[in-house]
Amino acid sequence: MSAPLHPARPASPPPLPAPGEGPLRAPSAAPAPGAAARTLLLTPGPLTTAPATRAAMAADWGSRDPRFVAMSEGMRARLLAVSELGETHVAVPIQGSGTFAVEAALGTLVPRDGRLLVLVNGAYGRRMVAIARRIGRDCAALEFEEDQAVDPDALDRALRGDPTITDVALVHCETTSGLLNPLGELARVVERHGRALLLDSMSGFGALPLEGARPRAVMASSNKCLEGVPGIGVVLAERAALAGAEGWCHSLALDLHAQWRGFEADGQWRFTPPVQVVAALAAALEAHAAEGGVPARGARYRRNRDVLLEGMTALGFEPYLAPAVQGPIIVTFRTPGWLDFSRLYGALAERGVVLYPGKLTRAESFRIGCIGDVDEADMRRCVEEVGRFLGR
Ligand SMILES: *Cc1c(COP(=O)(O)O)cnc(C)c1O
Repeated sequence: MSAPLHPARPASPPPLPAPGEGPLRAPSAAPAPGAAARTLLLTPGPLTTAPATRAAMAADWGSRDPRFVAMSEGMRARLLAVSELGETHVAVPIQGSGTFAVEAALGTLVPRDGRLLVLVNGAYGRRMVAIARRIGRDCAALEFEEDQAVDPDALDRALRGDPTITDVALVHCETTSGLLNPLGELARVVERHGRALLLDSMSGFGALPLEGARPRAVMASSNKCLEGVPGIGVVLAERAALAGAEGWCHSLALDLHAQWRGFEADGQWRFTPPVQVVAALAAALEAHAAEGGVPARGARYRRNRDVLLEGMTALGFEPYLAPAVQGPIIVTFRTPGWLDFSRLYGALAERGVVLYPGKLTRAESFRIGCIGDVDEADMRRCVEEVGRFLGR
């Protein structure tokens, strides 16, 4: 008798887990009540959030209720203020993760007969190329090694050599490695050539200044340096460009022009908003302002990074990037040949410190985020836990 090609169908479906049991209630990373120390999510989003941000999610909101509409409009105004781009731009939030905002921005703002140049030195640059190709926008990539910043001279040559390029897409901080691209210089090159800059500042917005750049669009998300929870992508878009982009988008749900018109009409989201995520982001934006805005948040993250780098280096770990290009958002360390990262990960997770696997194409690595509601003492705790694992 030969084995069946398909396993036999069970006579009856497996029983659903009882309420409160089984996979519907996976153990969360939140500390158990009375736990000695809170969990540190040193991942670049979702990340460690403040208690007030999580508490803001405890209420239900009607999406058309004037109080929710006011909160949502306040959130948009705050997002624009954080960008410092002023009245030439508008904040257009969109339901989904950061990639939804990137796809919405590229689909809505790159003209159908335009040509996009994507500057690539990591996975997020490659993702923009993939998006552009998928949605049928003509696209070229200018590629660099993952440990090299995008070179302004190479960009200058590319733009000089190809007058058909209408738009240039850049990743501000490449979260793949933690590399900070030279935004100010690159923006000046794009501007000098009269092209539009579309900036993926997903992992920088709220902590890294725009260095005088005035991109046509800045893409951000609720769950990175703004320290909200996941669920909202944001595009800070040039009002005039948005107004002229009616009908350009390949997608109904991701049409940023239509999304913006919806907000302008009555302050309401076009489709069901993630109301609790909005409430959390509104609370997180208040905390951002109270902390001192972008300069203060950036300074805290730089201190976190410096403490982390010093401690991990003392333990013998080698950072992947040269100091000149290392941003303050996330640090990549080379995984030494003798280290099994999954064991390190598991041991630290047990003790409430969550690390992040690597994403490089060419080097074995792991990452530790410096962002979220965490400070120097938290980074020291992380280093201590790594030392304990190593028996130091
Ligand atoms: C997080 C991130 C994104 C969006 O990723 P999602 O998983 O969709 O949130 C895009 N670009 C960069 C640079 C990022 O760090």
